[in-house]
Amino acid sequence: MKILVVEDEPKAAEYVRQGLAESGYTVEVALTGLDGLHAAATGDHDLVILDVMLPGVDGFAVLSALRTSKQTPVLMLTARGKADDRVHGFDLGADDYLVKPFHFPELLARVRALLKRGQSAPADLGLRVADLEIDPVRHRATRGGQRIDLTAKEFALLTLLAQRSGDVLSRTQIASLVWDIHFDSNTNLIDVAMRRLRAKVDDPFADKLIHTVRGVGYVLELRPAP
Ligand code: CA
Repeated sequence: MKILVVEDEPKAAEYVRQGLAESGYTVEVALTGLDGLHAAATGDHDLVILDVMLPGVDGFAVLSALRTSKQTPVLMLTARGKADDRVHGFDLGADDYLVKPFHFPELLARVRALLKRGQSAPADLGLRVADLEIDPVRHRATRGGQRIDLTAKEFALLTLLAQRSGDVLSRTQIASLVWDIHFDSNTNLIDVAMRRLRAKVDDPFADKLIHTVRGVGYVLELRPAP
């Protein structure tokens, strides 16, 4: 798996490069937008990690130029508190975003999810984890064929967990992706929502799917009842 990192701050670029290399990826670094665009347009990367704040040709310009020729998945790195950046990035064809500063495991989780997404069959829109099935078109979730009634937020939360099944999601990630809240402290909201979701998705069934990872966050995966 080849990843291109476009980041002008050498220390930040090295931090990401080293972490990804240690996780087994082949990493190429570009320190300017122009170099990044050239590398992305001519190379065969499986993913591009693109900083928005680049001097001269910025991340948005790189992304929009890249999208005229290639659909390589792009993870954008945006500055904290700039919600517009995220919307603008998605409009231009970004696949995901991460707010700076981030912890490396968060970045790695996004990278894995994007690479996994790229490999799955595009025709299969439904999500399936064990006996849980999510139909995003009909907005319907079932376990063992049994319908689970969910609010819109609960459905969004369950879909996110199922899309990233096996990856531990931090409360901060969940807050930003489901509630569009971008701060670290309000974890209570997430815990309360998660408790409600588990009451519907797990309590009636022997095999639990949603698990708390102490001090980190939550993960959805099948762990058979002991
Ligand atoms: Ca930068």
